[in-house]
Amino acid sequence: MIISMRQNATKAEIDHVCERIQDFGYRVHSIVGEQRVVIGVVGQGDVTACLESLEATPGVESAVRISAPYKFVSKEFRKDRTSIRVGRADIGGDDFVMMAGPCSVENEAQIMATAESVAAAGATILRGGAFKPRTSPYDFQGLEEEGLKLLAKARAATGLAIITEVMSDRDVDLVASYADIMQVGARNMQNFALLKTLGKCGRPVMLKRGMSSTIKELLMSAEYVTAHGNPNVILCERGIRTFETATRNTFDIAAVPVLNELTHLPVVLDPSHATGKRSLVPAVAKASVAIGADGLIVEVHPCPEKAASDGAQSLTLEGFGRMMRDLQPYIRLWKESRISEAALVA
Ligand code: PEP
Ligand code: MN
Repeated sequence: MIISMRQNATKAEIDHVCERIQDFGYRVHSIVGEQRVVIGVVGQGDVTACLESLEATPGVESAVRISAPYKFVSKEFRKDRTSIRVGRADIGGDDFVMMAGPCSVENEAQIMATAESVAAAGATILRGGAFKPRTSPYDFQGLEEEGLKLLAKARAATGLAIITEVMSDRDVDLVASYADIMQVGARNMQNFALLKTLGKCGRPVMLKRGMSSTIKELLMSAEYVTAHGNPNVILCERGIRTFETATRNTFDIAAVPVLNELTHLPVVLDPSHATGKRSLVPAVAKASVAIGADGLIVEVHPCPEKAASDGAQSLTLEGFGRMMRDLQPYIRLWKESRISEAALVA
């Protein structure tokens, strides 16, 4: 069950609701929200009687039963899409959001040239890894805080918001002091200590689907972040591991409509990691717009052949500009369908 309190509910009313929950044999699992308190309830008991009683309790706006194992992120909890404002972008809102930039931040010239070029082409968020999860310990591990400083410099020069990966709960405060969005990489999707800490980081979180994770597991990980106090979670499909070797991963495009049925959270697609090949990125990007994703995150590098990581899947600056132009008719249709969806809801 999820109990939403009225905006002006007092501490005494919230405490009283918690007592009533316990009277019915349930447990208060989490309380989230600063402006409006939402109480997550778990356990066994007489659901109908409990819901009826709570709906009549002072300070309660609504009490709903949620059958999915994930509560706060489920469509049952919230019918409308969640939209998250970050700088000029409204992720999950009425704009198709483009995040672009290199796999790794390498040096000032590289990040500045990329930021200026992707901003001119229409991106509103700059990506770039400063902490890199690499399969080999001998590969480039990222510039760490130096990389974060370069990202902040690129933000100051271009007005782009910054998304960058955080790999460990130890680094959350440091990364949050530079980043606008905290990225959780595929390899860390079930790093529960990290997810709990991100619940308190005060920044939106983009959670990438683990390469061997189900959609349900992705939603359970998102639930960790929301249950620990942070409702601003963006989901990212970046391809999963299958028997197929023609692409780096297998792009699960159906994840978008599946997620749209199950959750109100925004869904961003990553055609770069999904395919592993520059030549495949624009086609998969078109499909992503057409299927109703909320945005894309794309790797772009001024000189992919010299990239410290993921050069083979990185678009050149010109390639990104071309892809953005080619996507425009698809984005126009995307907008029309968002507007008619909003009219239908209203
Ligand atoms: C990345 O975005 O560069 C990255 C490491 O992605 P993933 O976690 O999806 O592999
Ligand atoms: Mn990468």
